[in-house]
Amino acid sequence: MNFFKKIFLISLTLIIFVVSSACQQANDAKREVISSTEFVLNTAATISLYDSDDYNLITESFKICRDYENLLSKTIEDSEIGRINTRKTNEVSTDTAELLELSLEFAEQSNGAFDITIGSITDLWDFTSNEKHIPDQELINVAKQYVDYRTIKIADQKILFENENTKLDLGAIAKGFIADQVKEYLVEQGVTSAIINLGGNVQCIGRKDQEKGFRVGIQKPFDSGSIVEIELNDEFSSVVTSGVYQRYFEKENQIYHHIIDPKTGYPTNNHLLSVTIISKDSSSGDALSTACLVLGLEKGMKLIDEKDDLYAIFIDDDFNIYYSEGLQETLITSE
Ligand code: AMP
Ligand code: MG
Repeated sequence: MNFFKKIFLISLTLIIFVVSSACQQANDAKREVISSTEFVLNTAATISLYDSDDYNLITESFKICRDYENLLSKTIEDSEIGRINTRKTNEVSTDTAELLELSLEFAEQSNGAFDITIGSITDLWDFTSNEKHIPDQELINVAKQYVDYRTIKIADQKILFENENTKLDLGAIAKGFIADQVKEYLVEQGVTSAIINLGGNVQCIGRKDQEKGFRVGIQKPFDSGSIVEIELNDEFSSVVTSGVYQRYFEKENQIYHHIIDPKTGYPTNNHLLSVTIISKDSSSGDALSTACLVLGLEKGMKLIDEKDDLYAIFIDDDFNIYYSEGLQETLITSE
């Protein structure tokens, strides 16, 4: 080997060594969060990664959210749910079938307090525009007849309706389901520390760092501050709140909000302002927070206490806080 070649190889080895040790130092010093917020699923969603600097993972996560929105939203005419509701199709994709089956289980467990056939009633209400319109009692009475989860069947990737006017609304479970899908994708990509926050529907991966889990504040209803803080872990990684303050209008000193009692066709009116569910998967957290808000404190708490893989926090209109069994000892960090 001639002299110049030798010098070249020694320098190259040194450069490689310096580069690799610089990479190692960068890795050690890293753990800086990368984060992005987008408007999707009718809400501001934020995805934050604590152990990666790959923005493509965030971009792809938002794409997953949008793809599911285009499949499941009842307000997008051409979505699968939109096409099912207008009876343009009776075929359901694998993902939709899975979500419908899951929804029917939660409807059964909650005795119809959570009911995805509520679409004909929710069509009559509008909590997003400034209209403040209360639907006519007769229209509500008619729409109520079409709401009953026991009248739909899913078989062989097809949905069957007993009643031609029944419409689906997956608004009370879709965000949780989508948060779970995004988590599955990120975990597959090797992410071990992240927060997926779909407008308050929070699903975490792993812990914030070696010492601490992710801490999440539960919002004080009609206020911007938090009323209680909990620390999540791998077993209880999801926090979902259903609250009457999240979407509502006020008319003649009365609040009309977006969580409807299927039995009356009107917003729930049982002194509860919010229910938060802490669970492993966000789908059950989402479905059950809505269900418990409709069921009320007594029946809702009974449903949660019968399960050992869930906790709940109920807040009433005097801002009293009610915890399900074992929660305070396990996950609460401050009040
Ligand atoms: P959430 O914020 O998860 O409690 O879901 C509320 C949304 O679910 C509403 O905006 C409606 O689209 C829909 N919804 C309202 N009431 C019910 C109910 N009792 N069962 C199922 N979905 C409901
Ligand atoms: Mg819900």
